[in-house]
Amino acid sequence: MSFSSLQLSQPILKALADLDYTQPTPIQEKAIPVILSGKNLIAAAQTGTGKTASFVLPILQKLNTERKLRGKRIRALILVPTRELAVQLEKSVAAYSQYLELSSMAMYGGADSSAQIQRLIGGVDIVVATPGRLLDMAQQRVLHFDELEVLVLDEADRMLDMGFIGDINKIIERLPEQRQNLLFSATISNEVRSLAKRSIYRPVEISIKQDKTSSPKIEQWLVTVDKGNKSALLSHLIKEQEWDQALIFIETKQGAAKLVSQLEKRGIPVESIHGDRTQAVRERILSEFKSGQIKFLVATGVAARGLDIQNLSRVVNYDVPDQVEDYIHRIGRTGRAGATGEAISFVAKDNFRNLCAIESRLGHVITRRAFEGFDVKKTVPESILNYVTKNKQK
Ligand code: AMP
Repeated sequence: MSFSSLQLSQPILKALADLDYTQPTPIQEKAIPVILSGKNLIAAAQTGTGKTASFVLPILQKLNTERKLRGKRIRALILVPTRELAVQLEKSVAAYSQYLELSSMAMYGGADSSAQIQRLIGGVDIVVATPGRLLDMAQQRVLHFDELEVLVLDEADRMLDMGFIGDINKIIERLPEQRQNLLFSATISNEVRSLAKRSIYRPVEISIKQDKTSSPKIEQWLVTVDKGNKSALLSHLIKEQEWDQALIFIETKQGAAKLVSQLEKRGIPVESIHGDRTQAVRERILSEFKSGQIKFLVATGVAARGLDIQNLSRVVNYDVPDQVEDYIHRIGRTGRAGATGEAISFVAKDNFRNLCAIESRLGHVITRRAFEGFDVKKTVPESILNYVTKNKQK
């Protein structure tokens, strides 16, 4: 199938050609016709499937009319969990709409609001926003929703995990009843379903099968390791396997600082992002990581939420996440459309329960690899599929 058979207009096709998108991904094939037909949609799809274009392209097509924008009005609202995601997603909107006369902006907290207000005063077609800041703008009356045509809740599960449900409900109350609603979520949990039930009338539901577990383009493997040996093992792998790049997830910012100094001592330059770093620093580091100036980036789970990094070749779970969702989300950062990736987990004995929960969710055990000189003293038991933890995983 080609993009032109999806009834997209010439300026959009031209932008896609510039980006070397030759054919739609499965979520794009399914979602674009539904959205163009004006129906509401709930889609189970995670990052890396091309889901962004699956809703942005038809929205652009629908908004590309003669209608003139009024000040302080917007026509499409895309809600996302984090500022990084807002920035990234707006960049995609800008790229896909480069040959159209539509305006877009990212709106998020932690940044000065006066520039954002100035933009809004003139009216903006598409706003990509985090819920808190958006609500703030609406309460300040610099933003009105009477011309809103489409609402997108992107990464709905993440937004709920991060406690945005109150803000989302308040925003939805302000929106016109006549609107199109699109909800995208890596998983459709009970919470997501209840949000959808309250706010989305008779949606079409689609799901991209592989998303439930992982894309086949992601090679997952693990290595069992004693806690005290993790940094030595990481240095060994970086050097022996000549890694070009890795995003390394770690639990705490103290752990991140320690790992950075351990790697630097072994001659591996590395940067870190965590909750204490300012927005400006996080953005600078992220852009240097994306451009390849920084090859190795240590990130705490919280700081890394919502970061969109294209064609990442490798993620490392230096610490295995407590939540299965976090594992699925992290590995989704590699092996994006058209590229393959590798997801490596360092598993210590204490992580056994989490490992079993992850593997049960994937439906298969993760391949174990061993490396000479890194024998474990505390053996991690053989995996058990269909393991049920006491605190049942979502
Ligand atoms: P997303 O799941 O929206 O985060 O997209 C994942 C990555 O795939 C992004 O880097 C997109 O630029 C890229 N992408 C999306 N759709 C296509 C396509 N049809 N062909 C090639 N790359 C794509």
